[in-house]
Amino acid sequence: MSPPVLILGGGLIGLAIAHRLARCGLPVQVLSRHRREAAGFVAAGMLAPHAEGLTGALLELGQRSLALIPRWVEEIESDSGLTCGLRGCGIVVPCASAAERDAHPTAAWGEHLDRAALEREIPGIGPAWRAGLLFAQDGQIDNRRRLMRALERACVALGVHFEEGTEVLELLTESLDGQPRLRGVRLIGAEGEMRTLACGTAVLACGAWSARLLPALPVFPVKGQMLSLQGPRQALPRVLFGPGTYLVPRDDGLVVVGATSEPEAGFGEGLTPAGQRQLQAGITALLPEAGGWPPMERWWGFRPCTPDEAPLLGAGPIAGLWLATGHHRNGVLLAAITAELLAARLAPEASGSSGALTDEETSHFLQAFRWDRFAPGAAPAGRTPPEARAHP
Ligand SMILES: Cc1cc2nc3c(=O)[nH]c(=O)nc-3n(C[C@H](O)[C@H](O)[C@H](O)COP(=O)(O)OP(=O)(O)OC[C@H]3O[C@@H](n4cnc5c(N)ncnc54)[C@H](O)[C@@H]3O)c2cc1C
Repeated sequence: MSPPVLILGGGLIGLAIAHRLARCGLPVQVLSRHRREAAGFVAAGMLAPHAEGLTGALLELGQRSLALIPRWVEEIESDSGLTCGLRGCGIVVPCASAAERDAHPTAAWGEHLDRAALEREIPGIGPAWRAGLLFAQDGQIDNRRRLMRALERACVALGVHFEEGTEVLELLTESLDGQPRLRGVRLIGAEGEMRTLACGTAVLACGAWSARLLPALPVFPVKGQMLSLQGPRQALPRVLFGPGTYLVPRDDGLVVVGATSEPEAGFGEGLTPAGQRQLQAGITALLPEAGGWPPMERWWGFRPCTPDEAPLLGAGPIAGLWLATGHHRNGVLLAAITAELLAARLAPEASGSSGALTDEETSHFLQAFRWDRFAPGAAPAGRTPPEARAHP
């Protein structure tokens, strides 16, 4: 049997790739420092290329991933025997005015709502919202309670070997024709033992921490604080995606509320009064009655961001080391296509037969999201910052 592909990081992206490669018949080993710190357990689980107002190649990537998600979820559910909580509930973006609605970067993909239509979609919506967009094609998945666990279970069922509590300390390289090539990793195991693991192929999926292993990568943390409320079942029929705050209703009435965006916090841990106040004010502005629903949990985590807010995918500066990081606010949405793109390069024969992506699409996306696109003069792949929207 060939040596395993090492997946460095057992968060959402690492698990999605491990699952896909194992389905292609490759031996896979996941090295995971701490599963609970993964942003995959933090996210709201919105599948929202349109509500997020993505543009350019990142919008294309998001739309393509959205189309892959139903089959991806079916595979995870059948391999794990667990459900993932996928809901095609649509997302409503409320706006202060019709002009703001019409200027939304993806307005052309949504149904345009006036105040009366907004009230029909979201009974009880705050009075300041005069217009909005309904993106019926966007949705959500219960990443925190279901998807992550289902992915882990699916990987185990397919024979993926997990080393939880194992931190990769260093990438070991050798020179081949003057180019660096991966020869292994140095790590510290769960019992504190240091060791070296030889490997020729690995995927770097360490989320916000990726640049600690490979400083050439322009990946940095953007902290986000969250909370949840227990609402009445069906009280909120769709995701409500306001500026700075969104409400994501799960099927049992739990409403996930996010999120602050704090690049200045670095890896600073914990909740802050200011962050929690911001979320509370957002809830009241979006759906006043939700201000009275009992709070359930509060948590935080780190988005892996890049200068253009788009991921780094494919080959990197070290031969044999593949990159799948920098998914920022859209890693849940992009996990399905990320796994497909990596499998297309690491297991081309098996993955090609799935027909999920054409060769042209694979090459197009891997070119658009290559790690060195930030060189001076290169065109950005990700989104251009949208006009800031404020609560009216
Ligand atoms: C507040 C918030 C809300 C979000 N909401 C959404 C949303 O609604 N929709 C959406 O699509 N996306 C959302 N995201 C983004 C999404 O969660 C991330 O893009 C995605 O989880 C990134 O996955 P990842 O595997 O790259 O990183 P992570 O899930 O963070 O996993 C990285 C893992 O690598 C491990 N690791 C790090 N360094 C090492 C090392 N040296 N050795 C071994 N292991 C290591 C860590 O322990 C961690 O478990 C949100 C994120 C946050 C923080």
